[in-house]
Amino acid sequence: MIELTLLARWLRRLRRSSVGAVCGGVIFSLAILPSSWAQPIGIPSMGSASSAELSPELERMLGDALMEHGRRDPTYIADPDVDQYLTHMGRTLVAHAPNGAQHIQVFAIRDPQINAFTMPGGYIGVNSGLVVATTNESELASVIAHEVGHVIMRHIARGMTEQSQNRGVLVASLVGALLAALSGSGNLAMGMASFGQAAAVDRQLGFSRGAEQEADREGFHMLTAAGYDPRGMVQMFRSLMKSSSLNEVSGGTPFAQSHPQSIQRLSDIENRVEQMRPVHHQDSADYWFVRAKLRAMQAGDEESRRQVSSLFEADARSASGTVRSAAWYGAAYLAWQMRDTAKAQSALREARADGDSPEIDELSITLAGDAHDGAAALAMARAAWARWPESQGVALALARSLQQAGDVAAASTFLQARVRQWPQLPLMRKLLAQAYEQLGKPVEARRTMAEYYVHTGALPTAVEQLRQARNLSHDFYVQSELDAQIRDLRQRLDTERALLKQFKVQP
Ligand SMILES: [Zn+2]
Repeated sequence: MIELTLLARWLRRLRRSSVGAVCGGVIFSLAILPSSWAQPIGIPSMGSASSAELSPELERMLGDALMEHGRRDPTYIADPDVDQYLTHMGRTLVAHAPNGAQHIQVFAIRDPQINAFTMPGGYIGVNSGLVVATTNESELASVIAHEVGHVIMRHIARGMTEQSQNRGVLVASLVGALLAALSGSGNLAMGMASFGQAAAVDRQLGFSRGAEQEADREGFHMLTAAGYDPRGMVQMFRSLMKSSSLNEVSGGTPFAQSHPQSIQRLSDIENRVEQMRPVHHQDSADYWFVRAKLRAMQAGDEESRRQVSSLFEADARSASGTVRSAAWYGAAYLAWQMRDTAKAQSALREARADGDSPEIDELSITLAGDAHDGAAALAMARAAWARWPESQGVALALARSLQQAGDVAAASTFLQARVRQWPQLPLMRKLLAQAYEQLGKPVEARRTMAEYYVHTGALPTAVEQLRQARNLSHDFYVQSELDAQIRDLRQRLDTERALLKQFKVQP
């Protein structure tokens, strides 16, 4: 447990030393070990070599484990609309990278600070405050493109090759916590920082200047190739610098003096933009609705909800079309949170007058469900699903409406199809397992939960679920299938433990 304590202490120090985070403050880039992993062609070595190798598999494993813990963090926003939109944007961008087959998953955390951060394994966290601070979709895409740039250049793995004593301690702590968790003897949560802490790291402890410039360059390329307006990157950089100067606490030093490399990076991007023909990017409706939702979610108490609600109404009065619709949707969402159903309904009517989105339908379904009008909720959910067959949020609303209407069999059939539609999405598996449980199919329920845990990186828990399924089953065929699955997972666990042990150095 000493490793966990060390990690916690170090994280607290980072937290204190934070002076206004700028995009790319990355705690998990500090999760660093000396290694001599094979350098991909074209990437110079950024550190000295040592005995162990950091493979993409290990990086993904660390990322999965951090996410598995992170999903329980109170600041983590578990919202399918937000997840789907941000991840789609990240994947659209990475598709334009030279090695575009990389895993990217983007998620949001509830934090008003303007920041984004990268974790091992292609996981990218975006603060709600950053999304809210953007004024168009290209600005948001520019930050995500920069973070995807860190992923495709494997900066975390490269950072792990740096031989700093503090980093070594931190990595040993991380690996120790992970090993304990994998053997089922430790609580990963004890050793991990919250996402909020993760984002609030002093830039000096984050990526190097070279890595930041590289991420800017790669990000810029992906941004423009994907059709976004590159001026979004310039605007975003300016507002990041502005917000950092506002957050600056180190004795009133002007931001430009204390952060010369940010000025340099901004002018590099400006030069690139000047050499390009102007690009007009049409913001998607999803951008405006997800932004409104995050703005509403970010308001944590009654007072701020009231304030944000009046801001939404002011926006709605000055805007038109989709922007107006999304502002009314935001007001409706807040009214629903404040249990003002009448206001929520009237704001939703205004939202519908100018626009159309899965989020509007989902909120209507929720309101009908809250009013115990299960039949109306189900009818709306069916209609919404017919309209938005790609929306995970609407799929979730329909599955819930079916369950609430007591049609668990239909819910399970629907969820089985959604698991096939989105095999990488853990959420649908969890709901399917619940449906199986309600249908009196405990073996299927545990098998499905095991798949859920495999997809969230919790292998020991997955094994436990399979063992329970094995004990409950009376079918010889199913029993031998389960035996084989348990064997496979145990092998995978052994491999992962062996991989991690290579990194378990004494601090
Ligand atoms: Zn960065």
